[in-house]
Amino acid sequence: MLSIKKCKKCGKYTLMEYCNICKEKTITPHPPKFSLEKELKYEKYKRKN
Ligand SMILES: [Zn+2]
Repeated sequence: MLSIKKCKKCGKYTLMEYCNICKEKTITPHPPKFSLEKELKYEKYKRKN
């Protein structure tokens, strides 16, 4: 299954592993579920201190 990816260098969205403009490796802008949980934990940690 293809997921949308983003080039962190030029900010272009692509489906490719590498940006076809600057040849940078692309990233997944919003990793599913996983990151939300992580962010919430981080948020709690921040408030405690
Ligand atoms: Zn790029």
